[in-house]
Parts: sequence; structure tokens; C-alpha cells
Amino acid sequence: MKIIKRVSILPILVLISFLLVSCDMKDEEMSESKTYSNVYYTIKYPSNWREPELIAPKVFFLKDDNKCSLDIKALPYKDSIEDLIPKDESEECIIDGNKGYKVKIEENNEIITFYLIQKNDMLFEMMFKSQVDDYKNCLASMDQMIKSFEFNDFESMSFANWNQFTIENIEVYYPNNSVINDTIEEWGKDRVEAFNYITEYLDVQWEYEPIKMYVFDSEEHGEQYGLQLGFALPGYNHIFTLHNQYPGHELAHCVSYYINNGERIDSALINEGLATHLNMTGKDYHRMTADILQEKSYTIKLLGDDFRKNEDAYTFGASFVKYLIDKYSLELFKEFFAQNQYNEEESFREFYDKEGNVLVNEWMDYLKTY
Ligand SMILES: [Zn+2]
Repeated sequence: MKIIKRVSILPILVLISFLLVSCDMKDEEMSESKTYSNVYYTIKYPSNWREPELIAPKVFFLKDDNKCSLDIKALPYKDSIEDLIPKDESEECIIDGNKGYKVKIEENNEIITFYLIQKNDMLFEMMFKSQVDDYKNCLASMDQMIKSFEFNDFESMSFANWNQFTIENIEVYYPNNSVINDTIEEWGKDRVEAFNYITEYLDVQWEYEPIKMYVFDSEEHGEQYGLQLGFALPGYNHIFTLHNQYPGHELAHCVSYYINNGERIDSALINEGLATHLNMTGKDYHRMTADILQEKSYTIKLLGDDFRKNEDAYTFGASFVKYLIDKYSLELFKEFFAQNQYNEEESFREFYDKEGNVLVNEWMDYLKTY
């Protein structure tokens, strides 16, 4: 139920200066390398990089000293990727015989180099990152990795053969013999109901592309496609979900992205809390949290990275977000949520005039009498 930040190429390009770069790669042999392979591609990475990690739709590669990283996403994407990148700000590239694009940007002392390629209705996004000072040292590894990139024969695993069922603003994609095959209309209706509820609740007028929901039978089924379910790609309006995931959660990630044109607070607590609050299960998260606290009686740490370490985080987050909305208004919450202040602590101070931890304590006090 993680959300993935959109590539954000467009906003980044608009906001900051970019550098045009050459696609030429140095023809050096990679001295020692290891191989990573999945359904879609095979890539070699230097032996002083760590074992890659699969995090939702991306595979994350990191050099031992943390100075260079690469993440690769493979996603179904039927539209032309040329629409994603302003032509005059990118450079054409050939990767494993396929035409792609390269964009290099500098932001907050970091250099980010994107490569985008499309094959068999899939989009492959490779994103290299390094600090400006380390860039030169990372360049050779980057070139070598890109050069070693090879597509596997994944036609049978592409999403091109999946069935499509469209209902209002939702396009449902599912394979033949999917577990939702016989209940597709009902399944779609439940999602539309959730979508309508969430857009109304957040007062978002939907004037965007339909939401594409890719429905998998099981976690293993997702893993075959290199995906860790479920998750949303807000901005792309893509959702990858298990057939039995709660209807509203990922939809809430997609819809809330448009409260203010893609501006979202960088806070797992607030993003996951809102999505869980709107997941359409009718669960009483205040009650659940109060019960957990009584049983375990621990101090809750929910800010920053602590959120992901807490096994009850989603339940707590939903309760906390509901508390903020009920106590301080939905309007204030929306302003707080959809703003370009990407410092969680600063955001609490700016919008609630209180430290995040003060609000967490206030909410816990409230639950004691719930
Ligand atoms: Zn989520």
C-alpha cells in the first residue's frame, strides 16, 4: 500500500534549470560486475554495489558507499512516452536497440539522470542519482549499467493481452481467468462507488485521464510481474492492486494528488493515513487504535521514517488523520496536505501552529476517553 512518487519529470523540468547532455557512453569494460535479471530485463551492475532491492514497482541499486544509486521501474504504459517529456529538453538515446530519452537535471545539489524507454506497451524508467560532487565518479558505472541493459523476451508477460473493462472513470485491467472474471461488473461498481465518494469528500473535480486499475489474483501473481502489491502511481493515474484489497485506499492516493495539482506533503503518516481513512471499509480506526494502545501501551512514533517501522502504522495513521480533520477541519487538512512544503515538521508548525509530536500526543489523549 505504498505510494510511489510520480516521476515528476514535467514539474521538475518546469521548475528548475536542466542541462543538456550527450548520450554518448564511454566504451569501458566493467571490471567486475554482477548480474540482475527479472521478467523484463537483465542488467549488470558493478560488484561494489549492493544487492538490488525490490521496492514496490522499482528495483533499487545502490553503491556500497551510498554515493550513487539507480532505480528502475517497469510499468504498463500504452500512451506515447514522448508526451511525458518536452522534446527540446531531452535527448534521444538508443538502449538495447530501442529508442529512448535521456534527461539530466540538477536539483538541491543532486544530479538526477532519467532514461525512459518503451517496449511492448511497457515503460521503463531508469533514474540515476548522485550528489553533484560525486557525479563524475558515478558516471562510468552509470554508462556501463545502461550499456549492459538488455530486454528479456517478456511479450507473454506484458499487459497488452489483459482484458479491459471500463466503468465511468475507471478502467479495470485483468488477465484471462482472473478471479474477478465473473464478478467484473460488481468489482468495478464498488471501485466507482469508492471513487465517487472520495472525489466528493475531497472536492476534486475529475477532469483527468481515467484511472487504470491492474488487478492481480495474489501477491505471487504480482511478483511474477516484478511488482509488490498494492500501490498507486498518482499522477499517472495507475493502480496495481490485489483483487481483494480495500476499494478506496489506492484510489484515495490518486485522487488526493489532484487536491492541488500534484502538490502533496512528503509524509507517510499523512498520505497513508488519509488513504486508509478513505479506504471504504467502514472500520472505526479510533476504536481500533484505542484498543491497541490499551493492550500494548506504547509510545507511538509516527513521524518521518518511524511510520514505516510501526506494524500498526496504517491504523494509527487513519485515526490520526480523522482526528485532524474532525478537530481542525477538512479545509485546513487539505491545505496542509496539498502544499509544496516538503518538510514534515515545518508543515505541522506552519499549518497547525504546533509540533507534529504535540499533535500526536493530543490525539492520544483524545483516544483515552474514546
Ligand atoms: Zn497507501
